[in-house]
Amino acid sequence: MKIHSIKFKITCWYTGIITLLFGVIFVFALWYLGRYSEEAINEELQDEVGDLLESIYGDSLDFLSENRALFFDDGVMLSIYDEDSSFIEGIFPEDFPNNTPLAAGGMRKVRRQGESWFLYDRKTELANGRMIWIRGIYSYSSLVADNLWMIRLMAVLFPMIAVLTGVIGYRMLVKALHPVLIITETANEITSSMTLSRRIPVPMNRDEIYELCRTFNQMLESLEKNFLRERQFSSDAAHELRTPVSVILSHCEYCLEELSLPEEAENEIQIIQRKARQMSELVSRLLEISRSERKKNKLEKEEVDLELLAESVAEELQEKAEQKEITIEIEDRLKEPVIHADLSMMTRLFINLTDNAIVYGRKRGYLRIRLEEEGDKVRILFEDNGIGIPLEEQERIWDRFYQVDAGHTRGENFGLGLFMVRQIVEWHNGTASVESSPGRGSTFAVVLPR
Ligand code: ADP
Repeated sequence: MKIHSIKFKITCWYTGIITLLFGVIFVFALWYLGRYSEEAINEELQDEVGDLLESIYGDSLDFLSENRALFFDDGVMLSIYDEDSSFIEGIFPEDFPNNTPLAAGGMRKVRRQGESWFLYDRKTELANGRMIWIRGIYSYSSLVADNLWMIRLMAVLFPMIAVLTGVIGYRMLVKALHPVLIITETANEITSSMTLSRRIPVPMNRDEIYELCRTFNQMLESLEKNFLRERQFSSDAAHELRTPVSVILSHCEYCLEELSLPEEAENEIQIIQRKARQMSELVSRLLEISRSERKKNKLEKEEVDLELLAESVAEELQEKAEQKEITIEIEDRLKEPVIHADLSMMTRLFINLTDNAIVYGRKRGYLRIRLEEEGDKVRILFEDNGIGIPLEEQERIWDRFYQVDAGHTRGENFGLGLFMVRQIVEWHNGTASVESSPGRGSTFAVVLPR
């Protein structure tokens, strides 16, 4: 149980309140028990004294010495005194000071050396005219003993009830707050995988949590709608641009090949052609991204031989690498180079990372593609000794259209390569990361499940 969790706080609050409540009940019960018991003893003493009186009424007192049982009943000890307070017959507790003066009236409490007794004295006249006193005594320790089991029971029962309510309450809270845990998990999953199509399971009970889940799902739905609209817009825009760009390109080609133009005009048209080619490349990339995004939930997975793929991509980009005299080495340390993945996406991933190593590589540099085991996963490393990436840029290079030094890069780079790499890796439940230091080179690592 975390100290700052709501569960902890609520449990502490109500366990504290219940303990306090029980404490008050306990104290009240003790007070009531004492009071009620004294009243009961008062009645008992008067009854027993009355009973004894009835049994001797009108008689001489001689028979009493043979009937000692009459002097003790229900915890009350009885004794008879003469009018001048001299003891005639009876029983009294061992330590009781028998010289305690007789006094008419209600019940009294007498203390002596830590012991206490309740007393009730009654003066009466016998039928033969003789005046006597009858005294009833009830020991205080008997009262305590009578109530002790009750006090003990409460002392055990109340803490037990407090602990039990604490535990049961905590479990109920855990159950009640379970949907909140699911909401947090779902939100985390959405954040990490950007799958806005996920929804939170709505509980059956139409309570506050039900409302929260429903509201959360509504928010996700509107977010997803907006996201899809925005994606549709880039896809539509790319589609719309494709035709005019190819028309510009074909007209440029026509002008350059079929018309005899002055050199200056030719140069201008060549600039237009170059820019239109870049635009066409950008349009193709955007269309590829929107195609991949549509495909992400139903990837066409097949057996992909990573070593073969690395070799074929290296071959494809060989010419580009040769222009900078960059050597590409492939090192396969895998026991089994095959993984289950979408081939076209894996090809795009290899092309983008290999191309980057060439574009940002140094002249006569190298690119080492290493395939390694990482537990039950596969790690693919692209290690170059190129220009490297400053630490503060390493987080942002994965963003769409982000380039470290946009002015420095060549026309066909748009800052989309690593964005695509990260997306492809995430759709395959893998991870992508970089380690780099400016002037020394970079190592991009992709880890994929088999
Ligand atoms: P671009 O199309 O500009 O290459 P990327 O998304 O592939 O876009 O890369 C984003 C940025 O990351 C690049 O502009 C570049 O500055 C940096 N970068 C990527 N790969 C490397 C690398 N191997 N070496 C140095 N910098 C790199």
